[in-house]
Amino acid sequence: MPSDLHMHTTFSDGKLLPEELVAAAKAAGLKYIAITDHDTVEGIGHLYENGFYPSRGIHIIPGIEFSAHHPIREIHILGYNIDIYHRTLADKLNEVTEARWTRFSEMVEKLRNHGYDINETDVLKVAGSSRAISRSHIARVLVKKGCFPSVRDVFSAVLEKGKSCYVPHYRLDVEEIIAIIKQAGGIPVLAHPKLIHDDEIVENLCRQGIEGIEVFYPKHDEADEKRYMAMAEKYGLLVAGGSDFHGFPTRYPTELGVFTIEDRWAERIFRPEKVL
Ligand code: AMP
Ligand code: MN
Ligand code: MN
Ligand code: MN
Repeated sequence: MPSDLHMHTTFSDGKLLPEELVAAAKAAGLKYIAITDHDTVEGIGHLYENGFYPSRGIHIIPGIEFSAHHPIREIHILGYNIDIYHRTLADKLNEVTEARWTRFSEMVEKLRNHGYDINETDVLKVAGSSRAISRSHIARVLVKKGCFPSVRDVFSAVLEKGKSCYVPHYRLDVEEIIAIIKQAGGIPVLAHPKLIHDDEIVENLCRQGIEGIEVFYPKHDEADEKRYMAMAEKYGLLVAGGSDFHGFPTRYPTELGVFTIEDRWAERIFRPEKVL
């Protein structure tokens, strides 16, 4: 049975509710999954509070995906097996999601100044139950309104780092993220290293207390996997991987089970579900 350690729900910028995601993962025959929403663990709390965690027939790893501060690069850090009710973690996440709120207003303002017909209510409707409002939600509104043909086009025209309507978000430093994940009992893992576009930064991160690296990722080719696997060996890191499933039709993979990893990697990361 295959596994998938990177996926998003409606609690960040994914399409499926956590329970829908778990059902889809079971239907796809996955053995281990990790729910890794951006800057929030509410999706896992929602599962637990509604009796969907633990779940028969599948192992669910409580996870998260943090965005780290960097002047030009996008650095994301996954946390696995975290205690979602950990106090310091909860306080930090509140800070981060509140800052996302201000940032989203600023981006809407910028877009309006650039002549786009968008307002905050449009974005909040698309964001639904998510408190981690992101550029993805804004991009979807602009596509819905016919301003751009696809989410990707919105990003490359106005929302990517450095583009006219981009606003940086309040982010924690890598060191702080690693420390918070560890304090909450979790394993910090560097997400999609190729997307940093600078392997020197990746190597530095491997020396900075990261305990795992996402070797398997849809945008990594065989050479990338080999290179990151070698780094994992060199620095004694756990090997992770996942689809980064968001559930939107234009974004690969469109279904769970299409991009998976071998269970043996997930087994080394998984710790038996504890009643939270
Ligand atoms: P944010 O956390 O608000 O900075 O938004 C980042 C999210 O936007 C990521 O998690 C992706 O889901 C999405 N994203 C980032 N870059 C792109 C892109 N070039 N095309 C489509 N989606 C993107
Ligand atoms: Mn996302
Ligand atoms: Mn990411
Ligand atoms: Mn992700």
